[in-house]
Amino acid sequence: MNLILCLTEQCNLRCSYCYYKDTQAARHAVMDNATLEQAIRVGLERTHSFGQNLLIVSFFGGEPLLRKDAIYHAVGFAKALVAEAIDKGTVGKDFHLEFTINTNGTLFDDEFFDFCEREKFTLFLSLDGPEHHQNIARRTVDNTGSFGAIVKNIPRFVKLNATALSTITRAHIDTLAESAKWLHEQGFRSMTTSVDFDGKWTSEDFERLARQYREMAQYWFECRKNGDKFYLGTIQDKIKLMLSGRRFRNYSCHVFSGTIGIATNGNIFPCSRFITSNESAPYKQGNVFTGFDEIACAELHAFLESDKQECEGCDIRYRCCAHECACTSFYTTGRIESISPEVCTHERMLTEICDDCAARAISG
Ligand code: SF4
Ligand code: SF4
Ligand code: SF4
Repeated sequence: MNLILCLTEQCNLRCSYCYYKDTQAARHAVMDNATLEQAIRVGLERTHSFGQNLLIVSFFGGEPLLRKDAIYHAVGFAKALVAEAIDKGTVGKDFHLEFTINTNGTLFDDEFFDFCEREKFTLFLSLDGPEHHQNIARRTVDNTGSFGAIVKNIPRFVKLNATALSTITRAHIDTLAESAKWLHEQGFRSMTTSVDFDGKWTSEDFERLARQYREMAQYWFECRKNGDKFYLGTIQDKIKLMLSGRRFRNYSCHVFSGTIGIATNGNIFPCSRFITSNESAPYKQGNVFTGFDEIACAELHAFLESDKQECEGCDIRYRCCAHECACTSFYTTGRIESISPEVCTHERMLTEICDDCAARAISG
């Protein structure tokens, strides 16, 4: 079970594509220790109830490093809780705990890096690429680029095997492949991309993006041929799904039985992009103090078991984010049941490029 904890809704950056950008100034909520501890208890119980033996506690925000105190507290609390559960026989001796963090990388110091190393954190670093690429959208509160605050930390992120997460807006397209190579040259061995679908993508934008994806696929192909390790999720995730013959929702997406997101006020959501302390937010699944709302859970479960009508007959539906990923549909359309035409176009284009690349890789 992946327990995603939104420790704070605040952030020291103001990225142009942030899905909280319109509400950023009003977002002040932080998670208190009582909610944090209860969320971890719920995460442990739910992991156990699904017969799983791994609890991943993921620190999320806003920027979670604004709450280093809460991260230290949560790690100590979770370790003690799991040790107690093993002692009591509530969970098996093979039960284990892991920690991950999604961060913009600007607030790290040596002490926190040492802590992450000691606790074997998995790091996901939001870094779009080199300075001219990063500073297009990732800007501070006073509207200066954030690259300068991250660059000095890159060697330590690399040492901790961080995955670089790069976001693509229409303004990033033409320097995308170059940025992927740059990240690899800095030493990152794993990266992936996500697209900011803002409702303004044109067919010309998609053609330019397709050229960049082809260049990235070629670069990944050459790295693979030369035995140079580089996990490029943008390309490899689709190839892996195709080769496995499995459905995205059962392979990479673990909503419902494998993931829950907790807002600062303890409200429970299906995954990261839904999380908010807004009480009237859709898709709320309950609260850590009052338990799961069984009706809301049953509705989500029914959705996950079904296919979208608009996609009937589409060959790639079980590999398509618009069809399979609840978060993508939610943030692009406001409903998990709906389809964004932009995502549909993107998924068709990217799948074709990945399939071509896979065919080349298989034929040697
Ligand atoms: S770092 Fe993340 S939370 Fe902060 S403004 Fe950027 S996208 Fe939003
Ligand atoms: S809903 Fe989307 S983002 Fe969330 S776990 Fe599934 S695939 Fe990942
Ligand atoms: S590519 Fe379009 S039609 Fe096909 S599954 Fe995705 S959203 Fe549906």
